[in-house]
Amino acid sequence: MHRIDSHAHYRLDNNAQDLAFLRELDLKIVNVAVPLDSDGSWRKGQLPYYEDMYQRYPDQFAWVTGFELPGYKESPATYAERMIAHLQRDFEKGGAIACKFWKNIGMELKDPTGRIVLIDDAIFEPIFAWMEKNRYPALAHIAEPIDCWRPLDPNSLHYGYFSQNNEWYMYDKPHMPSHEVLMQARDNVVARHPKLPFIGAHLGSMEHDLEGIAARLDRYPNYAVDISGRTIDLFPQDSAKVRQFVTRYADRILWSTDAGMGPMAKSTPEKREETYNWLRGWYQTELDYYTTDKVVTLGKFQAKGLKLDAATQQKIFVTSAQHWFPGL
Ligand SMILES: [Zn+2]
Repeated sequence: MHRIDSHAHYRLDNNAQDLAFLRELDLKIVNVAVPLDSDGSWRKGQLPYYEDMYQRYPDQFAWVTGFELPGYKESPATYAERMIAHLQRDFEKGGAIACKFWKNIGMELKDPTGRIVLIDDAIFEPIFAWMEKNRYPALAHIAEPIDCWRPLDPNSLHYGYFSQNNEWYMYDKPHMPSHEVLMQARDNVVARHPKLPFIGAHLGSMEHDLEGIAARLDRYPNYAVDISGRTIDLFPQDSAKVRQFVTRYADRILWSTDAGMGPMAKSTPEKREETYNWLRGWYQTELDYYTTDKVVTLGKFQAKGLKLDAATQQKIFVTSAQHWFPGL
């Protein structure tokens, strides 16, 4: 099966060895930009790679753009106009298939009064309205896994990340928005723009609550989720329930990994091979988990594979991505 990895980060510089390796994986890769800042440095550091790979190999690569956070040095109307002009170029000329919203919205960005800005803030409304009018999908990584708001636990799946990235760890920052507040702000946008295809990245940051995801999928026909980086979160859950959830909502679930690699200009062929081997192992684990009933291992965590039926596999690996990202 020629699968689509609908959320990944391969910042490639057209290196032949990299391309041969990716052809071996037999994937179509959706490269997702991460809009990190308000001055646009992220744009210069990421977009040329993603756009170039798409322009050269449109059958193998697609890309998702983003926009600068407000710097509050201009009026909200001017800001929105400027961002929409960027997005218009990215979609129409650059071939972008969606626009990414990142967790800095709701967890970092402040307005001039010092208030944390949520995704349902008025400043983003014109952008969402424009995307909805054009049916350009939103891919939103809002909030973090629930462990972000819980005491650090060495047995937690995300212990490594939150113990090393304190700026994104919220349990010790009670003045910051709660997980619930961030989910509500996201839901508000989904509800306010019923014609906007809205994909919640990383299981919509509700990896711990499949019933909560299901409730939203039932409530909002324009909502879908990608799995990227959260297969591991399914491991400890009741596999019969996970299988039931994925099978039932397969039209609304996009398989993806969040895998990737940076340009390795100074790397040796041997070093590259090491990276490829690591990625080969990652993809094999993902495929084994969804398509077989083997016991699979990711880090120190283990689970028995879901062995999804062929129709469900076809949806999560291929057709859901094609449906939710019509530009693919
Ligand atoms: Zn990502």
